[in-house]
Amino acid sequence: MTVLEQAETAGGKCGLVEVDGYRFDSGPSLLTMPWVFEKLFAATGARLPTSSSSCASSP
Ligand SMILES: Cc1cc2nc3c(=O)[nH]c(=O)nc-3n(C[C@H](O)[C@H](O)[C@H](O)COP(=O)(O)OP(=O)(O)OC[C@H]3O[C@@H](n4cnc5c(N)ncnc54)[C@H](O)[C@@H]3O)c2cc1C
Repeated sequence: MTVLEQAETAGGKCGLVEVDGYRFDSGPSLLTMPWVFEKLFAATGARLPTSSSSCASSP
């Protein structure tokens, strides 16, 4: 596969900021079209998780 990208890194608006070894997403944080992911998960036989959990991170 060949990826053509004008920026230094791939990802577009799904950006990433790195500070002191920690990485933060700078773009999308919520699902505005959940039905797309529901169909994707269903195609694999899985269900889209309806809740999430948090955990401590380390660089
Ligand atoms: C702060 C922020 C918060 C957001 N929050 C949400 C959210 O909560 N939920 C949600 O659903 N959406 C959200 N969005 C919108 C979502 O991020 C974008 O709609 C989505 O990422 C667009 O994806 P894309 O691949 O179409 O375009 P892009 O992410 O813009 O990617 C296009 C890529 O093509 C490259 N490119 C362009 N022209 C050329 C060229 N001529 N040659 C080579 N490469 C080129 C660009 O450099 C870029 O990497 C948010 C966006 C931002 C900025």
